[in-house]
Amino acid sequence: MATASSLLLHDVRLWTEPDTPVDVICESGRITAVAPCDPAGHRFAYQPPFAQESDHDGQTRIENGRGLLALPAFVDAHAHVDKTLWGTPWVPHSAGPLLTDRIANERARRTEFGLPSTDNAESLIRQMISAGTTALRTHTDVDPGIGLAGIEVVAAAAERLTGLIDIQQVAFPQGGVIRSPGTLDLLAAAVQAGAAVIGGIDPAGVDNDPIAQLDALFGLAAEHGAALDFHLHDEGTLGLWETYRIIERTVVFGLQGRVAISHADAASAAAGPDRDQLADALAEAGVALVTAAVYDVAVPSLPYFAERGVTVACGNDGIRDLWGPYGTGDMLERAMHVAYRNGLRRDDEIELAIEAATTGGARVLGLPDRRLEVGGPADLVLVDALTAAHAVAARPSRELVVHAGSVVARSGAVQTELESVHR
Ligand SMILES: [Zn+2]
Repeated sequence: MATASSLLLHDVRLWTEPDTPVDVICESGRITAVAPCDPAGHRFAYQPPFAQESDHDGQTRIENGRGLLALPAFVDAHAHVDKTLWGTPWVPHSAGPLLTDRIANERARRTEFGLPSTDNAESLIRQMISAGTTALRTHTDVDPGIGLAGIEVVAAAAERLTGLIDIQQVAFPQGGVIRSPGTLDLLAAAVQAGAAVIGGIDPAGVDNDPIAQLDALFGLAAEHGAALDFHLHDEGTLGLWETYRIIERTVVFGLQGRVAISHADAASAAAGPDRDQLADALAEAGVALVTAAVYDVAVPSLPYFAERGVTVACGNDGIRDLWGPYGTGDMLERAMHVAYRNGLRRDDEIELAIEAATTGGARVLGLPDRRLEVGGPADLVLVDALTAAHAVAARPSRELVVHAGSVVARSGAVQTELESVHR
């Protein structure tokens, strides 16, 4: 069964050394050995379905990788699974063009569609797992209208999926904090109910009182030992000013490495000396940028920010919900959007998108770097591709997904036998 004490992945090619077939041993959720192997003659060729090749050898589960490429399993650092309509019939988009229109439309229609829904959230997260994601940060709406219903729904979905994926909830004040009395208390209650992260949203654009929102949220995070993740769509000088206020407070409250700015439209659009100064301040304070490369909004330059030492992660953001019709939950597809929007063409550049979709996200979630080496987490995905860049460009099916040393999905299907252990 999938919970055998160790896992041997035979004849795989690590994305960092794609010309060398190796065996990878995973024990207790970690990679404990990587050794060159004899692939018995075959190397990168289409093979019969993998599912038939697994075997057991006492306490070790053996999987024949048949020369497939091993990528780190993905980290979706920004999603909204409480809002999704996944698993239900198609709903034509009905909101107006502005951010405030989309917030209002969702408020008006979410009950009509049974949102938030445990079944929808579970359905989408299963899709994510089958596509190779084994860690997820999801922003869950918390407001006086819905209370903690979303937090409870996502926790229930996470409970159904125990052992298959790590899920971290952000208590997200979609409708603002200062302009929405009662929200701050609900955020505190959400943290007590298990949310690890407190969210913020456009302290100026939504709340029209940036200092008040930032002080309130940083104070709450420090009091409860929570991390912070701000949706910051505010643009230009205003957005940059807010970014610096977030950086200052991160240092003052000792939250280095635990604060992220999602979307970060202003930082993404910055250029020249402004961007240099900002990047250095972000890197020094350990404030990460999270992008989804959605629609026509600015995307942070991966080559630039990586070179400057800033953590950049990515996520799918909303997936088929009242905010928009797009998305599949596939982080390889998201990495492609990020690479494409960055204009990346060379293999070494495209690999930066894989870094953002794996180790970048892991850093945002407070998880170990997703290095496929001894001591690294045993979270991997096998695909039929020559290199990581080839995988991003072609987005082949996910042949095998491993989380914490257990096989959690195979050929696009979440493993039912692991579920039966936990349910
Ligand atoms: Zn979002």
